[in-house]
Amino acid sequence: MKNHRGTCELCQREGVRLTEHHLIPKEEGGTFLETVMLCPPCHRQIHNLYTNREIALRLGSIERLRDDDKIRKFLKWIRKQPATAGVKMKKSNERRRKKR
Ligand SMILES: [Zn+2]
Ligand SMILES: [Zn+2]
Repeated sequence: MKNHRGTCELCQREGVRLTEHHLIPKEEGGTFLETVMLCPPCHRQIHNLYTNREIALRLGSIERLRDDDKIRKFLKWIRKQPATAGVKMKKSNERRRKKR
C-alpha cells in the first residue's frame, strides 16, 4: 500500500496517512464502485463497528458514515488526536523552573 498523506474524508484531519475504503465493501460487490480515502484509525473503526453487510446496506456514503451515532462519538475523539498517530511517549521530562 502506498504511504501518501492527505486529508481523511471522515474525520477531516490533515496530513494523515490515507488508506482506501470501499463505500460498498468488495465482498458485497463494490469492487468497482466509489472509494474514499481514510486515515487508518477511521478505517479500522468502521470495520470494527460494522459488518460488510451493514456497511453495504446503510453506510454506503461518507455522509451516512459521519451521521452514524457510533462514528460521531469516535470522530469527536479522533479529531483531538494528532495527525501523527502513535506519539505516546514524551522525549524528556522538561520543565521550566523559575528561580526563586
Ligand atoms: Zn480519519
Ligand atoms: Zn474499508
